[in-house]
Amino acid sequence: MAVINSIADREQDMKAWRHLLHQHPETSYEEVWTSNFIAAKLQSFGIEIHRGMGKTGVVGVLRGTGNGTSAIGLRADMDALPMQEMNEFAHASKTPGRMHACGHDGHSTMLLGAAQYLAETRNFDGTVYFIFQPAEEGGKGGEAMIKDGLFDQFDMKTVWGMHNWPGMDVGKIGVHSGACMAAADMFEMRITGSGGHAAIPDLAIDPIPCGAAIVQSLQSIVSRRVAALEPAVVSVTIFESGSAFNVIPGSARLGGTARSFSPDVRKLLEDSIHEIAIATAKAYDCEIEIDWQPGYPPTVNHAEESARAVAVAANILGADNIITDLQPSMGAEDFAYMLAERPGSYIWLGAGPAKNGAMLHNDRYDFNDDVLATGASYWARLVESELPK
Ligand SMILES: [Zn+2]
Ligand SMILES: [Zn+2]
Repeated sequence: MAVINSIADREQDMKAWRHLLHQHPETSYEEVWTSNFIAAKLQSFGIEIHRGMGKTGVVGVLRGTGNGTSAIGLRADMDALPMQEMNEFAHASKTPGRMHACGHDGHSTMLLGAAQYLAETRNFDGTVYFIFQPAEEGGKGGEAMIKDGLFDQFDMKTVWGMHNWPGMDVGKIGVHSGACMAAADMFEMRITGSGGHAAIPDLAIDPIPCGAAIVQSLQSIVSRRVAALEPAVVSVTIFESGSAFNVIPGSARLGGTARSFSPDVRKLLEDSIHEIAIATAKAYDCEIEIDWQPGYPPTVNHAEESARAVAVAANILGADNIITDLQPSMGAEDFAYMLAERPGSYIWLGAGPAKNGAMLHNDRYDFNDDVLATGASYWARLVESELPK
């Protein structure tokens, strides 16, 4: 019951890789340096590589000993965020406006660490696919790899994912059975009135009160239309209009996100947002265009695979340190697309108290290197347990 010794031994190497990745953050579908680095590392471990799936994605293929035909996929994400890092340590981002603020540098490193160990030991029978995906942060990189034939070209039975989780103690792993992350859809509205002089509102059609009424009314969807025990969020996050104190603007722009777990609630949010916005615009004599952008579906773990993930995690950290009664997150995750195609489980790796209050996506966040060996050991033991010799 512990981190694998020979993985702990390579902790310094993993730390160095993680810091290099952190210095070279690249956003969705621009992970060129990153995928070159990962591909070179995999090759140096003697692992066969396939590139270009989902533009910058990399898949490593490693066969164990024996003639086993079973296969599993382990997935890490590679992309960074378009934001300015405020950390000043030596491994801070070298690219202005780009930052690994979600720990995907750590995710890629842990999978590389496991790949190196597995290539050396091959204590399994079957095939393991190391999936390094681009564009998790809103770019649907997981879906892009599937569209490019991930599951056609590489016939895996199950898929597995992991995310570091600041706020959960180091030495703990959280595993959900069922939904763990929400569906996240986006909407954008253009309200058109008729601009004019601010002193003569009766001769204009003001889109601002119309927009304000829409924002207010949308708040009633979750409180009045969604059943009390169903999780849902509607957040208006963009409201832009006007440019002068004495001018009624001709238009306003609203945008936001709708989060849910069940398909019925997801549809209810979409229908309600349309209905309310259209009816409100009409009441205010404005025109409205609504652009609905379906985002990630909910991330739903499969019960049997989650139970096996719990067993593997317990083997490393002890059963007491595996948390299985976690509430799901209203955040979203594009591993959802892979879990919709193949059974599997996506776990949360405890990363300790957020440093300086820096949670994921904070400009002072940094992946906690203390969990590299734990995450890599989980991957390695998962392979050995799913593909036994
Ligand atoms: Zn993120
Ligand atoms: Zn992330």
